[in-house]
Amino acid sequence: MKHLPLFFDLAGRKVAVVGDGPKADLRANLARSAGAEVLTLHGPVTARELRGAVAVFVATEDEAADAAAHRQAKVAGVPVNVADRPALCDFIMPAIVDRDGVVVAISTGGASPTLATVLRGRIEAMLPERLGSLARLATTFRAQVNARIADPAGRRAFLRRLIEGPAARLALAGDEAGARRVALGELDAARRKMTPTGIAHIVGAGPGDPDLLTLKAAQLLQEADAVLHDDLVPPAVLARARRDAEIVSVGKRKGRPSWAQADIDAELVRRVRSGQTVVRLKAGDPFIFGRGGEEVDALRGAGLPWTVVPGITAALGCAAAAGIPLTHRRHASAVTFVTGHGASDGKPPAWAALAAQGHTLAIYMGASEASSVRDRLLAAGTAPSTPVAIVESGTRPEQRVSTGRLGDLPRLAAAHSGAGTAGPSLIILGDVAAYAAASEMPALAKVS
Ligand code: SAH
Repeated sequence: MKHLPLFFDLAGRKVAVVGDGPKADLRANLARSAGAEVLTLHGPVTARELRGAVAVFVATEDEAADAAAHRQAKVAGVPVNVADRPALCDFIMPAIVDRDGVVVAISTGGASPTLATVLRGRIEAMLPERLGSLARLATTFRAQVNARIADPAGRRAFLRRLIEGPAARLALAGDEAGARRVALGELDAARRKMTPTGIAHIVGAGPGDPDLLTLKAAQLLQEADAVLHDDLVPPAVLARARRDAEIVSVGKRKGRPSWAQADIDAELVRRVRSGQTVVRLKAGDPFIFGRGGEEVDALRGAGLPWTVVPGITAALGCAAAAGIPLTHRRHASAVTFVTGHGASDGKPPAWAALAAQGHTLAIYMGASEASSVRDRLLAAGTAPSTPVAIVESGTRPEQRVSTGRLGDLPRLAAAHSGAGTAGPSLIILGDVAAYAAASEMPALAKVS
């Protein structure tokens, strides 16, 4: 190592900053954020002014002035950093990631600040936002762990689980009280040498493009012991799961009996009780036509920890991929996500209220019932000439978009299902649907 990374306690100590301009300001602000008393100096400085400081930052943006200030710092015997002049630095500034008080410092030994910046970006993307709550959780439990778990290996295992396991996940989701409760339960289990319970995450997988997973979903997929997924979740998304995670399809499949909702609920509870971290992976968003609410009820009823991670729902994914703005200053001031399914899947929609002008409908599960969807909308007063788009397999490589008018909807839908390879389809109805045709995305193969 060319430099030794150290974290310097600056609270209440004097730090001098020589120069004005953005670089000097940046250094002054950083020193202040660590609690330093910052002395800002403009113009030529003397060693006398610098004496007593624990560090000097020089950033005058003038070569001669930088060198002069550097000499004075040396005379004063204070460690000095001169911005952009590595040869004049006793210490260098790392690229800093500060995530809720947990700090990562990156140095390339001055060789490439650009490389350090790029690395910082990657690390930023990897680290969860509420990292500080993990540090607090560990602080809270340190004394109790030492008091209650005698054996050092058991202690290490407990602390590791505290930072990576269910309690950590609750803390990262903002539920610090829940995290402490779960950690207490684990402490108890550790003392009695029992398996602690796991946790379930009800996670939205988005519309199919794996790059549309949220950061949180991607992180949880890397932590899961088991992934229970619907058939609508494509292999490209499942491929983002941890290599040795158990992947279980709980969806309907041809030739295999499908899982009843009650069986899925029971399976979730069973796995979490046995200590697993389970990701229940659902297409789109788990709380939009996803029965996520029922699974949460089951976990809550069993007293087990859970979190919900939202996903990009099909309406948002399909609209973006097809170039359809769901609202538009001139054409639509409201959008409704509605199921095209009959009453079998819950309360039937009140079509009359949906037929209003200037209202976009994103109709889920409607393509197979296109005739009845059309008839009800027409009966409710929607004009047969209202533009409509069908987005099939939205955001996936095989995406197909077709456009037409409401009166034509059954024919359009038949053209999609007729291919025999039909993926999931979303119907977008309203004036904004006309924008799909105007889009020039390469994925827009027109079905005629
Ligand atoms: N929870 C999911 C919806 C599940 S209901 C979500 O938030 O998106 C299943 C319906 O979603 C399908 O019948 C279809 O209408 C729609 N759907 C899901 N993924 C889709 C996709 N990639 N393209 C088009 N429609 C999709």
